[in-house]
Amino acid sequence: MYKPLSCLLTVKNKIKSLPNYENQAMWLCCSVLNMDSAHLLMNDMDISDEQYNCLMEKTNLLISGYPLQYITGDTQFMGLDFNVKENVLIPRNDTEIITELAIKHIGGKPLDVLDLCCGSGCIGLSIKYYCPNSSVTLADISCDALELAAQNAKHLAADVNIIKSDMFNSLSGAFDVIVSNPPYIPRAVIPTLSKQVNYEPKLALDGGNDGLDYYRKIKNDYRRFLKKGGIMLLETGHNQGGELIRIFDGGAVIKDYKGNDRILKLEKKYV
Ligand code: GLN
Repeated sequence: MYKPLSCLLTVKNKIKSLPNYENQAMWLCCSVLNMDSAHLLMNDMDISDEQYNCLMEKTNLLISGYPLQYITGDTQFMGLDFNVKENVLIPRNDTEIITELAIKHIGGKPLDVLDLCCGSGCIGLSIKYYCPNSSVTLADISCDALELAAQNAKHLAADVNIIKSDMFNSLSGAFDVIVSNPPYIPRAVIPTLSKQVNYEPKLALDGGNDGLDYYRKIKNDYRRFLKKGGIMLLETGHNQGGELIRIFDGGAVIKDYKGNDRILKLEKKYV
């Protein structure tokens, strides 16, 4: 008979070549055996053959490069649980920075907020969770993304508007805060990224030849959708700050903890 701890050790041994393998093994075992880490380490219950086989199957998927988050169907973002699924970008730690900035800016104020290219909804739903007085709209072109965002909204009990829109095309009204993490990877770079990233949707990654196509689209329309005194925060690639200041003819680049360009902040001071 298999025990939880022996399962964990077996998985750890099998995935030793993966980065951060100890945490990945723990996360996978907790998910498949349906127990938290304390139980996994202490509980002496028997693991059925069926559960064990399922765990080994998923371990092999992980070894083949399939992302852990797609295997378990969930991830953590801003201290909250988010469902994830294929065809929708997996929320990144890097994206917590733009989310934190927006949350700090909004505080308890009843502001209108737009999360453009919402994907799983991780940015906009975290904002609604931590700033419950805000009124949040999530928009994306992908039906898979919208379906997942709706599922995450339900599970976080977040009352938000979810709209299918190709960038600003189907949106109306104006917002105090626009946040967006648009696709920004230069097309030719995508195949050079990790196997895991290449399981994620191209639509959510591919920013055209130089990675900046979506910023150009945003630049053309955003002022109409931003109220006077409003701000827009855009996540950027690690070296795109300079180019973005040129495209938007202004703005401030905010770096992440590693010193990389991470956010472009724009303010609309006048009508
Ligand atoms: N806003 C989502 C995220 O940050 C999706 C972004 C995207 O699909 N490019 O994860």
